Amino acid sequence: MERTARNAELSIKNVGESVTVVGWVSKRRNLGSILFVDLRDRSGIVQVVINDDLKDVPEIRNEYILQVKGVVSKRNNPNPQLKSGEIEIVADKVVLVNTAKTTPLIIADETDALEDTRLKYRYLDLRRPIMQGYLDIRHKIKMAAHNYLDSLNFIEVETPILTLSTPEGARDYLVPSRIHHGCFYALPQSPQIFKQLLMIGGLERYYQIARCFRDEDLRADRQPDFTQIDIETSFLDQDQFLTMMEGLIKEIFKKTINYDVKLPLRRIPYREAMDKYGSDKPDTRFGFLLHDVKEILLKSTFEGYQGAEAIRAIKIDGVAQNTSRKVIDGLTLEARKFGLGGLTVLKVENNTLTGSFIKFLNEEIINDLMKEMDAKNDDIIIIAAGKANRVLPLLGALRNQYAKELGLIKPNTYDLLWVVDFPLFERDVESNQITSTHHPFTRPRDEDLKYLDTDPTKILSYAYDIVINGYEAGGGSLRIYNQEVQHKIFEVLGLSEEDIKRKFGFFIDAFQYGTPPHAGMAFGLDRLTMILGQTDNIRDVIAFPKNLSAVCPMSGAPEIVDEAQLDELGIQVKKD
Ligand code: ASP
Repeated sequence: MERTARNAELSIKNVGESVTVVGWVSKRRNLGSILFVDLRDRSGIVQVVINDDLKDVPEIRNEYILQVKGVVSKRNNPNPQLKSGEIEIVADKVVLVNTAKTTPLIIADETDALEDTRLKYRYLDLRRPIMQGYLDIRHKIKMAAHNYLDSLNFIEVETPILTLSTPEGARDYLVPSRIHHGCFYALPQSPQIFKQLLMIGGLERYYQIARCFRDEDLRADRQPDFTQIDIETSFLDQDQFLTMMEGLIKEIFKKTINYDVKLPLRRIPYREAMDKYGSDKPDTRFGFLLHDVKEILLKSTFEGYQGAEAIRAIKIDGVAQNTSRKVIDGLTLEARKFGLGGLTVLKVENNTLTGSFIKFLNEEIINDLMKEMDAKNDDIIIIAAGKANRVLPLLGALRNQYAKELGLIKPNTYDLLWVVDFPLFERDVESNQITSTHHPFTRPRDEDLKYLDTDPTKILSYAYDIVINGYEAGGGSLRIYNQEVQHKIFEVLGLSEEDIKRKFGFFIDAFQYGTPPHAGMAFGLDRLTMILGQTDNIRDVIAFPKNLSAVCPMSGAPEIVDEAQLDELGIQVKKD
């Protein structure tokens, strides 16, 4: 179909030119002798002017598609809101290409439609310029990655979608086999095993824009199917690898939002991140650091502190006056969510601490605490005590919450860092079981191998996460390339000989044939797009996402299937 220009690309330079444009009617205003139409295509909007003496003008309604032939003219009243706002097209011919029903949501950046309506009519939601903007950023990130990695000799290789379970620690999505009744494929939680096999296969530098599937409870930043920029390399040490990845992230920021990331990025050990920020994905754009006040407060007469593994505190500046009983109740509730009985809030007023709790403190403790926290009038001090793996995350969450509430985070500021030296294993709070912090292929630090038999939780690993504005934007590790160490790690994780053979036998076998030292990571493409697009809803950056109940309101998936299909698969559904 004839089309000579993209709507929003027309400018004052084109005045006098005869053009043909197409697009959807975004708005129409009928002034009697003149009809103004805002015509939208992917580039944006251009104003079309239709004089009432023009012949054969079709009926025009919102979201009808028109083809307009006309002359670009300078506007008497420019519209600074529009990219093409200095010009308009005076129509010579208007052709109706297609009609449209009245849309169930307003097609504009500002919409009051419920999210489920937007998801049900996602194809209309996607017409909103802001949504196309997110997909554009997503595309630019991918292109930057393709170009950067290609320039460094990486090759993109696809790995199977129908495969065996991969151990990323989430629940698998299973696909029944028709040919082998009772057997199931698992959708990959990541291409982890395959990318390591590609290194054994001699590929040296692999990447893939990879779809991954994890059956987890959904949150604002999680989807059942999501995308990673997945990377694996051979023969690089940690420093060489992280430097290469920093180059990638710099390129992505430059090409998407024209932002210059300063390199090298800071590298913070996991222990320091937890101790200072109460999080392994710290947002370091604001203070409220955690202080260890155990020594000071063990001297108090409060019995609840005796025997506490950790007693930590944060100070929030200038909020004492606004910290009502209700606010304190809210904080206590938060503490309960983290498995603690409660927390203590002290206010600084008239240069001393106040609050019912001070009956447990003598003057020396009050002074020491104020000094440690550098507390000033109108500050509050929040103290939490108990198991370290509850206290630290609680205070970490509260510092984020306060920073948000107090508006301390400036828009368009980016805070990038690496968190390194993660523990190899962690103990599950509930089950007390040892699990891998990353995944079981992560290489223990050489100097810590000695703890493998004695105290595996002491082992630190060559694992790293990239953290941007408090989001984990990616993570990876150097990998084990020694068959015995790999086998030993599986044992520590409680896998029986039979399990190891069945689940990873082929993988362990491969290690016998000259496995190069290798390292890799995966960036979350959806998260990167959220950060660069400045939205905190992952569904905004995915064309066709699921809602929070893992349902696609548009297609209705997941759906019941025909009995015949189940028969073919040898499956009978349990009625509950
Ligand atoms: N497979 C890991 C993940 O999905 C990343 C990696 O270790 O490369 O988190």
